[in-house]
Amino acid sequence: MEYYSSQITKLIEELSKLPGIGAKSAQRLAFHIINMPQEQVERLSEAMVDARKNVRYCKECFTLTDQELCPICSSAGRDHQTIMVVENTRDLAAYEKTGKYEGVYHVLHGAISPMLGIGPGEIKLKELMQRLQGDVKEVIIATNSSLEGETTAMYISKLVKPTGIKVSRIASGVPVGGDLEYIDEVTLLRALEGRVEL
Ligand code: ZN
Repeated sequence: MEYYSSQITKLIEELSKLPGIGAKSAQRLAFHIINMPQEQVERLSEAMVDARKNVRYCKECFTLTDQELCPICSSAGRDHQTIMVVENTRDLAAYEKTGKYEGVYHVLHGAISPMLGIGPGEIKLKELMQRLQGDVKEVIIATNSSLEGETTAMYISKLVKPTGIKVSRIASGVPVGGDLEYIDEVTLLRALEGRVEL
């Protein structure tokens, strides 16, 4: 039996497809949206459609941006010879929040996971190797300290070493299995400063 009108049911269904939103939260959000002023709902839906339409990968570092080059890659104030490799844009944001890292990034969009069938070809590794043909002094591997993150770090270090470019791994200080985005800035900075050459 349908408790709600079909349009409310549809809204609840769509919302419950979002990560972390269970049936109850979806219901709560749907009723909240229905009670919001019309203009506010329009701004929300416009923001979603615009972001989806215009946001793409930076052609250099593959972070999400609405320009061809992200603000970090196009900044003359950054050290373009130091590349920090992260798993996703949220990790990049975590390091940016420290305000102390002056290099640039490379976003892999995932990590190697034999269990999930994610091989090196499924993440932006080929693109990283292409960047290393330019003028690069150091690659800092800042993948998570999960099994997947460590596997990826090892794989990258094996690829980079023969190029003669310095390759380092952020220090543990980042808890094992910890997602970078949840770690406080002090710990992140300590991990960066204490990085070890591989
Ligand atoms: Zn970029």
